[in-house]
Amino acid sequence: MRIAVIPGDGIGKEVMNAAMILLENLNLPFKYEFYEAGDEALKKYGKALPDETLEACKKSDAVLFGAAGETAADVIVKLRQELDVFANVRPIKSIKGVDSLYKDLDVVIIRENTECLYKGIEFEIDGVAQTLRVITKKASERIARFAFEFARKEKRKKVTSLHKANVMKKTCGLFRDVCREVAKDYPEISFNEYYIDAACLYLVMDPYRFDVIVTTNMFGDIVSDLAAGLIGGLGLAPSANIGERYAIFEPVHGAAFDIAGKGIANPTAMILTACMMLKHFGFRDEASRIEKAVEDTIASGLKTRDLGGNLKTFEFTREVVKRI
Ligand code: ATP
Repeated sequence: MRIAVIPGDGIGKEVMNAAMILLENLNLPFKYEFYEAGDEALKKYGKALPDETLEACKKSDAVLFGAAGETAADVIVKLRQELDVFANVRPIKSIKGVDSLYKDLDVVIIRENTECLYKGIEFEIDGVAQTLRVITKKASERIARFAFEFARKEKRKKVTSLHKANVMKKTCGLFRDVCREVAKDYPEISFNEYYIDAACLYLVMDPYRFDVIVTTNMFGDIVSDLAAGLIGGLGLAPSANIGERYAIFEPVHGAAFDIAGKGIANPTAMILTACMMLKHFGFRDEASRIEKAVEDTIASGLKTRDLGGNLKTFEFTREVVKRI
């Protein structure tokens, strides 16, 4: 299987190194091919997502992505649309030993990935700037069904739809109605919905009421950063973008320029992202072994700076390798 690896910008490179050490240790039938994209690619080639990279992604079985900086919209948002990876799966799971706001939290956010305000249709005329929010019945149905199928497969009990249909009556109204319709096909899974603002309050005050969340693109982007904060931060949050033909695996975090180049980024999110890729291709045991090694490392008090420890990225990775 061919994996297009794009480390990208900022800490993307640093955390990708860590994930690759673990992946290459496994000797699985993956062929890793490295490509460029992001702010540096823009400077070098005049294009943030060079044609060669895009073509390579289309010829690969999956893409493993680090982070893009200022060019994120032209790189990862574009790549998600080009490869039609419509479902962004973002697990928010507490890790033992992390001094987080909540323990034993296990929520999965399913974010629609191809439309909404991130469609990129923007214009400015005479000092009036506008962005078009595109919500279609087709994409809403596809993501709602994905969320319920995911809940069924993972034996989860509840799907919650987040929207703001009382204000955005057309766009969110359509999304709300489609989710309600799809829910009827899954009587064994309970279904409810909240307005996005109330949902943020509940996520902070009582996140245990959530199981699987399904929402539109920008709301999904925002609540997944918020939810990552509940379990200890962006250094711990992995994600997978799944479509019918393609899959892109990338951590929730971005290039984090504030800490880039210092070797202190937490590679856990990227490592757990690599584990999502392994599971996607059926290598569940290998993924579980790495996940357990990460948990054991953190539980024994060995942590990077974001979690209150003092290990550098490579020191943390070395500890994980030792535990496999
Ligand atoms: P984007 O919009 O590109 O997704 P973002 O707004 O989510 O980016 P990040 O670049 O991910 O922002 O960083 C947000 C904050 O989280 C920063 O303070 C950063 O240092 C911290 N952070 C993100 N990832 C990590 C990590 N792997 N290890 C430690 N800290 C991190």
